[in-house]
Amino acid sequence: MTRRTPFLAANWKLHLGPAESARLASDIRVRTADLRDVTIAIFPTALSITAVVDALRGSSIGVGPQEIEAAPIGAWTGANSATLCRAAGCEFALVGHSERRQHYGETSQRCNQRLFAAFAAGLVPIYCVGETLGERRAGRVEQVVGDQLSAGLDRLESDQIASLTLAYEPVWAIGTGETATPEQAQQVHAFIRSWLAARIGPTLAGQVRIQYGGSVKPSNAAEILSQPDVDGALVGGASLDAANFAAIAMQAISP
Ligand code: PEP
Repeated sequence: MTRRTPFLAANWKLHLGPAESARLASDIRVRTADLRDVTIAIFPTALSITAVVDALRGSSIGVGPQEIEAAPIGAWTGANSATLCRAAGCEFALVGHSERRQHYGETSQRCNQRLFAAFAAGLVPIYCVGETLGERRAGRVEQVVGDQLSAGLDRLESDQIASLTLAYEPVWAIGTGETATPEQAQQVHAFIRSWLAARIGPTLAGQVRIQYGGSVKPSNAAEILSQPDVDGALVGGASLDAANFAAIAMQAISP
C-alpha cells in the first residue's frame, strides 16, 4: 500500500490581520518544528498572506489563499489569482470550500477552471467536496460527492489529479462542533478513493491525499486520522490556537 504523508491545513477564514497572523504562524512554526513526515500549510486571509509568508520563511510550512480566481490577471475587481499568490510566495490554494459554495455561489464547474489556474501557476490545490445534512439524510452522499468530483476534476490529466489534495468536508460538520464519526469519514474517503481509481487507476489513486475537515480538534483528531483513507485534516476553528493545531498535527503523524 502507498504510504501517504499526512497533510494538515489551517484555514483561518476571515480572522486575523497581518500582525496577528504573523504571530500565530510563528507560534505554529515553533510548536511543529520537530515534527517530521507531515505536510503543513496555512491559509490566512488574502490581506495576511505576505505577513505569514515572511513569518514562515525558511520553514517547511506552506501558505496559500482561501480561493483563487481562474484568470491570472486583469479586470477582476476584488479577486486573487493563482499567479499573483504564487508571486507572493504561496505554494498551495484552497478551491471550492463549502463557505465559498454557500456564500459566493461557487460551483464545481468554476472550481474546475480554478484548478487549471492553480496548476498553471505552480500552486498545489486542495479541492473541497462534501454534502449538506439534507443530502446526507436523503442518502445522496456518494451522488453529491461524485458529482463534485466529476465536474471539478473534469479534463485534468491523471498526473495532475494524483498531485492535488482533496478535502472531504461534510457541510454539516464545518464550524458546527458536529464531527463525522470515524466510520462515516472513512466510508466517504474510501468512496472518493474508489472514484479516483476508476478515473486515474488504482496506483495513482493510492497517492492522492484526502483530508477530512469538520470540527477537528485535539480531542477527536486521533480517531479520525487513524482511518486508513484519511490522510490529514483541514482545520478551521481549532487552527486559530497554535497549541491545538500543533496537537492535531502531532496526532496526524502518530494516530
Ligand atoms: C474548515 O474551515 O474547513 C473547517 C473544517 O472548519 P472547522 O474546523 O471550524 O469546522
